Amino acid sequence: MRTIVLHDGDLVDGTGTDPRRAVDIVVAGDTVREIVPSRPADAYGTVDEIVDAAGMLVIPGLINNHTHGTAYGPLFPSGHEALPHEQVLANLDRHLVEGTTTVLCVDGFVTAEALARTGEAHPVNVRLASCNTPACLAAATIADGGGLTAANRAFTARDAVRAGAVALGEIGAGHTLGGGGASYMYIPAEVERRTGVRITPRQANGLKVAVLGRHISASAFDRDAVEEALAGAGLTGRLSVEDAREIVSGIVLPAFDIALRGLAEAAGQARAAGVPVLVHNAAASMTQVASIARTDVILIAGHSNHSSFELREAVEHAGRLKEMGAIVDVSTLDTFGAQRLTTGPELLYAMFSAGVVDTISTDYAGGHHDPILLAIDRSIKAGVVSLPAAVAMATANVADAVPGVAPRRGRVAPGMIADLVVTDPAELHHVGTVMVGGEIVVRAGQRVVA
Ligand SMILES: [Zn+2]
Repeated sequence: MRTIVLHDGDLVDGTGTDPRRAVDIVVAGDTVREIVPSRPADAYGTVDEIVDAAGMLVIPGLINNHTHGTAYGPLFPSGHEALPHEQVLANLDRHLVEGTTTVLCVDGFVTAEALARTGEAHPVNVRLASCNTPACLAAATIADGGGLTAANRAFTARDAVRAGAVALGEIGAGHTLGGGGASYMYIPAEVERRTGVRITPRQANGLKVAVLGRHISASAFDRDAVEEALAGAGLTGRLSVEDAREIVSGIVLPAFDIALRGLAEAAGQARAAGVPVLVHNAAASMTQVASIARTDVILIAGHSNHSSFELREAVEHAGRLKEMGAIVDVSTLDTFGAQRLTTGPELLYAMFSAGVVDTISTDYAGGHHDPILLAIDRSIKAGVVSLPAAVAMATANVADAVPGVAPRRGRVAPGMIADLVVTDPAELHHVGTVMVGGEIVVRAGQRVVA
């Protein structure tokens, strides 16, 4: 059996406890065999490889409960046209070099067969969630549905759970509930088709809020705000207020009420199937999300730091959800990098400071999501969360929240599967080595190509 020693690193094991300084982690086959105080490297005469981790931090491979574009099949819970396979594999490569070894794909219409083909093509553990309930399928069909084949439509959430899906989700989404997906995809595309002008996601979002408000309601229409948003996007004289209203309403509203109904329907199915339900938690869906939290389903409130929330609203809402037993997830979104929709880390930091966060994921952010370890690094430096707690939120907490997503993973302990990340304690997102199931798949921050 192949034996590899991660030598002399400091270990944060995923359980939330203090770091253990200078340990050797002995990996035999796909399993962590033992963790011992560091011995001289020459004590391991016969092992296959010694990875020098002196001065480095070793953590469990991250488990990301909210990803899109990580399995072959329709993209997003709107059933958008599938990404090319190379792009899916590139997305998985990116997660891997960011230290993520397990992803839950919450696109929602991926079949078990397509998931199996994804798994064969890439070392990341990809797990399936389904959003194929009657209302969610109807909402997807109205909002988009361009990537849904007969096989995708026929593969219901019940079938998916029978075939190994570990959750229902993402229920509702930016693409069916008037969130980010509408702002970075459908609204800019339609405005460009009508005017030839490509507006930014933020400009589209401004237009959307002016027409429908943060909570998505036709009665929130604000003519002055629409005029201002059109001017800000350089569309004055090219698009009338009425046309803007019609474009935004036409994209967002037809699917919206059905998608909203889909939240309770999916929660009922998840409860019956005994799996968690992962929902799109945003200003527009918060009332329905809270009513699901009152039931006895395992509820994961996805991206609870969504940019449609006001700061206090988000923190108070998350606090109430937590009191009702929900798992509060935050996503990195594009908080630190692209900032196409998110304006900065204040809301994320406020959520950590309030102690309401259970898990950390990325979401997609139009392909511009920040690495989980970057968000953790910045949040620790801002003094809003501790290193052991933050690592637990991206590892053991996720494994516990979604039983089945990562059995025997998410903690570094003897007998656990060896999904391990060696990274720089000063810049946590500068990942060096990544191991999946005892195999080194990233070296010096680069994907090892077999
Ligand atoms: Zn979402």
